[in-house]
Amino acid sequence: MTGIYIHVPFCKRKCPYCSFYSVEYDEGLCESYVIALKRNIEKYKGEAVFIDTVYFGGGTPSLLTPYQVRDILKSVKESFILAPEMEVTMEANPSSVDFDKLCEYRNAGVNRISFGVQSACDSELMALGRLHDYELAENAVTNAKRAGFDNISCDLMIGTPRQTMESLLNSARTLCDLPINHISAYMLKIEEGTMFDCDWVRDNVADEDTVCEMYENLIHVLKINGFNQYEISNFSKYGCESKHNTKYWKGESYLGFGPSAHSYFDRKRYFVPSDVYEFVASDYQEEIVSEENPDKIEEYVMLGLRLTEGINFLKITELGGNPNEIYEKAQVFKGSGLMEISEEGLKLTPKGFLVSNSIITQLLF
Ligand code: SF4
Repeated sequence: MTGIYIHVPFCKRKCPYCSFYSVEYDEGLCESYVIALKRNIEKYKGEAVFIDTVYFGGGTPSLLTPYQVRDILKSVKESFILAPEMEVTMEANPSSVDFDKLCEYRNAGVNRISFGVQSACDSELMALGRLHDYELAENAVTNAKRAGFDNISCDLMIGTPRQTMESLLNSARTLCDLPINHISAYMLKIEEGTMFDCDWVRDNVADEDTVCEMYENLIHVLKINGFNQYEISNFSKYGCESKHNTKYWKGESYLGFGPSAHSYFDRKRYFVPSDVYEFVASDYQEEIVSEENPDKIEEYVMLGLRLTEGINFLKITELGGNPNEIYEKAQVFKGSGLMEISEEGLKLTPKGFLVSNSIITQLLF
């Protein structure tokens, strides 16, 4: 089964730490974008592609009107073969939804919503340049629940300006008390060229060792509150993992629509240039191939080690690889508490997740 990712490249205002592709929201441009999006989706009519997830990411998808969302999902229904149980997720900014709008999204077919809450502490939200305070975020979540959303996720950020160990864990506990079943926790990365790429931010964030400790303590607090880690940055109640995002880590196929969207389809990885004006003006989106037929073993190890279930030796053999080689190389990481090794396979520990890129490179090359 394939997943569909739809990039909605509009924001009311650019957050100073963000490097995702988005432009300032403009009603007319957004309308043209929806028309272009539908044209691209409808290109798949008659191709018999089976799908079971749709994910509206951004940008700020909740700037789309419920009518536009319904219209896009109508194109999806007419162009693909839908699984009986579809997961349809929308990322939402707490400042751009109210109860009525959430009811309409739900009626349009969205059944999972992911709020960019980031923190339960107002001074941290202000430092992040967010448009909401915590009260607004809490109202958005409770309104979503009242509107009929049983699958609600919240994002939390780690290592942001002014955040302390205590305030992070307090934010985590506060989110756990909301009617949600999923939390994504991302570490702040100071991206070059963003407004956060400055001395004030560097002077006001915790040092690297403290951030690592924060991450480990966060995993513990989320676990005792019923949110189990299933991926480096993702935690859920039992059975409430994101079906769409899990496709990325299990090497399943997905089709991306919209500027800056990525796809993995027909054994090819490709992406759409980050230019909404070009996207709107073109008959069909430009798709630039970044990888043809990627190495299956490399992909399996790289993506599988992001998951808490880790990787399986039998699977490596099935893919034509040599599990003994990886087993031998992994011993050093086991010794330093970064990896757990069993007869079946291996997985990273929370400490290992913090340096996963370096471990994966050493295992593979
Ligand atoms: S709302 Fe989200 S996508 Fe838009 S600028 Fe802020 S963090 Fe980036």
